[in-house]
Amino acid sequence: MEIPISGDVFRRALQISADLWNHPEVSGEERHASSLLLFNAAAFGFRTAAELDGIPNAFLAAWDTEGEEEQLQIAGTAGEAAAGNAPEEAAGAEGEGGAALRTASAGRIPTVAFLAEYDALPGYGSLSPDGSGSAHACGHNWIAAAAFAAAVSLKKAAEKRKAEDPSFRARILLLGTPAEETWGAKIKMAEDRVFSSLGIDAAFECHLSGRPGTCFENRMLAQAEIVYTFHGKASHAAAHPEDGINALDAVNLAFQGIACLRQQVLPDTKLHGIITEGGTACNVIPDRTVMDYYVRSGKKDYLENVVERVNNCARGAALMTGCTVEIRRNAFTFYDIRNNASLIRRALEKLPGAAERAAQSEGLRAEEREDLTADAGRIRQDSVFGAVSGDIGNVSYDVPAFYGVFSTAPVSCGADVHDREYVAVTDSAYAHALLAEAASVMAETAWDVLTDRAFRESVRRDFERGILTE
Ligand SMILES: [Zn+2]
Ligand SMILES: [Zn+2]
Repeated sequence: MEIPISGDVFRRALQISADLWNHPEVSGEERHASSLLLFNAAAFGFRTAAELDGIPNAFLAAWDTEGEEEQLQIAGTAGEAAAGNAPEEAAGAEGEGGAALRTASAGRIPTVAFLAEYDALPGYGSLSPDGSGSAHACGHNWIAAAAFAAAVSLKKAAEKRKAEDPSFRARILLLGTPAEETWGAKIKMAEDRVFSSLGIDAAFECHLSGRPGTCFENRMLAQAEIVYTFHGKASHAAAHPEDGINALDAVNLAFQGIACLRQQVLPDTKLHGIITEGGTACNVIPDRTVMDYYVRSGKKDYLENVVERVNNCARGAALMTGCTVEIRRNAFTFYDIRNNASLIRRALEKLPGAAERAAQSEGLRAEEREDLTADAGRIRQDSVFGAVSGDIGNVSYDVPAFYGVFSTAPVSCGADVHDREYVAVTDSAYAHALLAEAASVMAETAWDVLTDRAFRESVRRDFERGILTE
């Protein structure tokens, strides 16, 4: 079924995108963003609660066809505040109770979820629209608005179906998932099985990219961060170097060991780190050095193998120099993404119609209309070379997940997400048209999950087998 993103929903989505773009908040500070989305979800008939899974600035908004008994019960004062007040006032409920879930009916009612990210990036100086230095160079303003548009448009379609067929059952969720650019709130949510305990049959998210072509089959690398602290002994570097134990030598040797390791691991492994403490003065043998390292690999299980070998490089370097080493691993590990073949195939079927409609969006020049449909037809499979990591990967291990990447290449002139030039792209007319396109693709694919039992089961089977489309 066609689900165009039109009229009041599209206008509101663009307001949300612009509001977030103009008020960029970095990871951990997304108070305005989460309040704004809660307020708007409530205004369009969703029940809402802040602090999903106890995470500040996370939220849950829910709508379902059910009566009191079977409704997903969500508690939390923020939801009620958001329904009747301005976003600024809704923020006052922060920290009170959070979202309490009663999921007795989970798994019995077809359920889809749209995931909204909304954190910005620091370090953009004068490009920051509010003078804070932060900016939406990764387009998470667009992600949140697209998820909102998809959820509300799908709800409208579901309400219509319910009016025609009282036996129709469906649940639609909009989840606010903050801090994607740093520790990844979805990692904690997936670890706590939030997505599966909500009975989600499929979760949807989309992202922008400066690379040409539409990509529904993305690669994401599993990633661990490890901090190594070497302890040695200080001494005068000229007078008594023989009395010292050189912690900088240990870091250097660890880097050499890891450089050799690079040849002996699978090619989708990426090893990169920095020295955050390298000593304090040239005439003192450094007694303490710190290196911060990222280990990435194509599969989370293989990642653990590489992490242990990188740890051994640090241990070996410590042994060689007489230092000791402390190894501290970041608590959250990003997982690779499990692409779901059924969801990808179905979304690809929806794409041409969605692109055709999106190309008619206001504000596009004639050549941009052509570019948009051409780029939508240029389907690419992600390669490992440009692959990064993202917390949607962890979601894909808890429930079936779809992750669509839409291209701004015709207007971003070689710039890609996180580039300085990309800030202007993420709330441009072209991005607005892509927002309508992405929201339609998500809503229409989600509609099939809700209404077509055979399709829903095939999505589940792909998830259980962990099938990739390659
Ligand atoms: Zn980013
Ligand atoms: Zn991003």
